Amino acid sequence: MRCKKRKKSGWQSVHTAFWLAFLLCVGTLWPGAFAEAASDVQETTWQEEAAQGVEKDSCLKMHILDVGQGLSLLFESDGRYLLYDGGDRDYSSKVVSYLKEQGVRTLDMVVASHYDADHLNGVVGALNVFEVQQVMAPDYETDTRVYQSFVNILQEKEIPVTRPTVGETYALGSAAVTVLSPAGGDYADVNDYSVSLRITYGDISILVTGDATTLAEEEMISSGENLDSDILVAGHHGSESSSSEAFLQSVSPCVAVISCAANSRYHHPSRAVMERLKEAGIPVLRTDRQGDMVVSTDGAQIFYSTDPCTDYSDGESGAQQGEAAAEGGGEKRTYVLNLNSEKFHDPSCSSVAKIAEHNYEEIYESREALIAMGYSPCGNCRP
Ligand SMILES: [Zn+2]
Ligand SMILES: [Zn+2]
Repeated sequence: MRCKKRKKSGWQSVHTAFWLAFLLCVGTLWPGAFAEAASDVQETTWQEEAAQGVEKDSCLKMHILDVGQGLSLLFESDGRYLLYDGGDRDYSSKVVSYLKEQGVRTLDMVVASHYDADHLNGVVGALNVFEVQQVMAPDYETDTRVYQSFVNILQEKEIPVTRPTVGETYALGSAAVTVLSPAGGDYADVNDYSVSLRITYGDISILVTGDATTLAEEEMISSGENLDSDILVAGHHGSESSSSEAFLQSVSPCVAVISCAANSRYHHPSRAVMERLKEAGIPVLRTDRQGDMVVSTDGAQIFYSTDPCTDYSDGESGAQQGEAAAEGGGEKRTYVLNLNSEKFHDPSCSSVAKIAEHNYEEIYESREALIAMGYSPCGNCRP
């Protein structure tokens, strides 16, 4: 798959006005030097770009926050901000301080892709701190405590909630944000309720799909909506359940972003997805190796605070070695930990509701591994 997007690398030929715009837009960022993109160079002058409607002093930025096992993206255009997910609890305060450092006071839109803790906890944190004009969130409910906190803060602060409708487009400064999923219906996997967005500025598009799996990806393909994008934030932290061959072909990104933790217990990113990306020659930006990153565009070119890399190592190889070394290889499932009493519970245990929020943690692990970690099974639910 050849990157078909226009990537000019003939910097010296660019008009001075463009450099001014570039400096205003990009600040301290530097252009990613892609040798392989050079073959796609087309001669386009600044005037032509202006004629295409690109304001010379405006741009679109995507801040990719390293939130370990989770996802959090901040989009910014013309002083308007859209927060897409906020990572898990451990990173909630990081997300808030990062946004403050960017000078965010008001979030024009907050998108909760879906209600899994690794996306929603930081959203609740941000809703508590910032003025929020509007929230977009999918139309389903869960009985987790983070979801309850989310519902409570929405009510408390009377923040209007919009449900995603495929094909609807919103303005974020000079950028356009189009909803691509969920298509609706009753999904067996809550990840498929994820709100997918295509954010477009000038000729450049970014696609983000939360934790949407190949089912939602198929629905997006058959929706007839334009998926073609320069940057794809790979679904579900690079898990094998997402980023199908067909979806990668429809999106045909130049760069894939993967938000995952180093040594994640979910073994993200998957070997299959990393191989698919490698085969397609799509370089990656990965938070587990590269931390926080900013991608910025003037509508014609893309600038990277950190260059995309070709580190296609997966989260499975190392994890398997670690597992072989660990004692006990029982089947993994979700348990609830009480960090204070060091007991673990079945999520349905009646004691779970009594655990103070700061002592509560969900974990996907085997019983044996939890015991090896020093936890003991609850005497009530006997997990
Ligand atoms: Zn997730
Ligand atoms: Zn999820």
